Amino acid sequence: LIRLEHIGKSYDATEVLRDVSLNIQKGEFVSVLGPSGSGKSTLFNIINGLVPTDRGTLRVNGEIGYMQQKDLLLPWKSVLDNIVLPLDLKGLDKKASRLKAESLIDRVGLRGYEHRYPSQLSGGMKQRASFLRTFLASGEIMLLDEPFGALDSITKGGMQTWLLEVQEALNVTILFITHDIEEAIFLSDRIYVLSSRPGGVKQEIVVGFHGENKRERLLAAELL
Ligand code: ATP
Ligand code: MG
Repeated sequence: LIRLEHIGKSYDATEVLRDVSLNIQKGEFVSVLGPSGSGKSTLFNIINGLVPTDRGTLRVNGEIGYMQQKDLLLPWKSVLDNIVLPLDLKGLDKKASRLKAESLIDRVGLRGYEHRYPSQLSGGMKQRASFLRTFLASGEIMLLDEPFGALDSITKGGMQTWLLEVQEALNVTILFITHDIEEAIFLSDRIYVLSSRPGGVKQEIVVGFHGENKRERLLAAELL
């Protein structure tokens, strides 16, 4: 579904990615770990076509929803209007989009905040609004750049569980950046570790929770 071969990227004189190769299958949950500055966000920008590569080949087969590290909520639009913005831009029926978003507002704990403005929300709330927007706009691939970084552990746990449920129900392919190795192990089928710059993939870890085991993980999460 996504195949990167020998990708290289420099910004002016600074080499960020060297010889990065990844292969993501449909329905996989793959995390990307690596120190700050190792090029994780750059890699996602390349996959999404926002940043050109200098070397290597990239193949992406499907529509991508991308939640960037920096939340990009428009300050002059309400939370709900921000969440449905990509659907509005696609020209979908405005009322239907809003109904769909409304039905998921509880899942992300933003009930009562949908008509406020982003500046009136906490950092974690803005993250959850961005996450819901990405979720609604995603086709078969979701790129999530530290989506739960600003959340407390209880809220984070709820979002993680929901993300796994969503993935199972919709069979979406998820690429996920995090600094939290426990989070990566809990969520992922595989983890790519980027080496500090300039470098490529240092290690590929198969977590070994494929398929059916995801259900066990969800059950375990409910019990905890
Ligand atoms: P973090 O964990 O802190 O988010 P990251 O792994 O996502 O880090 P990137 O944001 O991809 O790292 O940045 C990798 C390197 O590329 C950094 O040294 C950064 O300064 C540089 N860089 C990123 N974007 C640009 C840009 N648009 N122009 C110049 N340099 C850039
Ligand atoms: Mg980053």
